[in-house]
Amino acid sequence: AAKKSGRNRYAWFDHSMERELQVRNELESGLRTAIPRMEIVPYFEQQIDLASGRLHGFEVLARWEHPQRGLISPELFIPIAEETGMIAELSLSIMRQAFTTARDWDPSLSLSINISPWQLRDAWLAQKIIKVMTETGFPANRLEIEITESSLFDNLALAQSIVGSLKNQGARIALDDFGTGYSSLAHLRALPFDRIKIDKSFVMSLNESADSAAIVNAIARLGESLNLPVTAEGIEDGQVEERLRSIGIAKGQGWFYGKPLSATGVRRLLAERRLLQQPAASQVPAAA
Ligand code: C2E
Ligand code: MG
Ligand code: MG
Ligand code: MG
Repeated sequence: AAKKSGRNRYAWFDHSMERELQVRNELESGLRTAIPRMEIVPYFEQQIDLASGRLHGFEVLARWEHPQRGLISPELFIPIAEETGMIAELSLSIMRQAFTTARDWDPSLSLSINISPWQLRDAWLAQKIIKVMTETGFPANRLEIEITESSLFDNLALAQSIVGSLKNQGARIALDDFGTGYSSLAHLRALPFDRIKIDKSFVMSLNESADSAAIVNAIARLGESLNLPVTAEGIEDGQVEERLRSIGIAKGQGWFYGKPLSATGVRRLLAERRLLQQPAASQVPAAA
């Protein structure tokens, strides 16, 4: 759309593009202060065991609780955090908050954390994550790390060493958004994955598209042959859930089970189900 004729010759640099740049600059400068102010907070999406219907754990999804603009999506600020190098600090802050929250949950509940491709260039990443787990008292065997396929290109040896250190502590590792982007079956062997996550684009169209159904089915069979459990994300209704169950998918998540919850929202849900392992610090009566 760069070249337009007639009176719109300069339309490629129009108000909307200028406006876009403005918004980006505002987000970038805002992000610098938002991280130390802990305006970037973890939200939690339920992960369900499809066969039993039981709650398996939660995936952590970053949200920016902007004092003026309300909730801002990670699709907007994660790329900016990556380009500006703020992703490392942002991610550790999210982890510290999420581990502190999840420490109070039933120990059977796992926690999945998304790791940006950029972070796998940091030779100290595993040590930093382990330090936050130690400081917050969150056990590594409840942690799952989600990595997208694109991240594996950059520096495979370093990614392998980071993942190796985390797995040595008892953490698990999942291949996120499988089927999109830089899909290659070779990636499945590049790192010692414990799980495959099917991208939501296939799941959301499962009952409308024969192609999507074929792809989901193929990934399920692939998981079976490789002995890797499969999670489907983007389940929005019961029919899709039923179909996934019949295909033999182990775990699922999506808005059918509810939108991602704040820490308080999760606490309420778990209290109802008697899945809290201890009262919140603030509820413990102070010693007289
Ligand atoms: P993802 O890890 O693949 O997360 C799944 C995304 O799908 C989330 O969007 C989630 O809210 C959305 N989703 C889940 N179920 C449904 C559904 O049933 N229908 C629809 N339409 N959408 C559903 P979200 O939270 O906007 O996150 C987008 C991406 O941002 C994530 O994709 C992840 O790659 C990245 N991200 C989120 N939090 C973090 C973080 O703390 N660190 C890093 N590095 N990346 C993050
Ligand atoms: Mg994910
Ligand atoms: Mg995903
Ligand atoms: Mg994604």
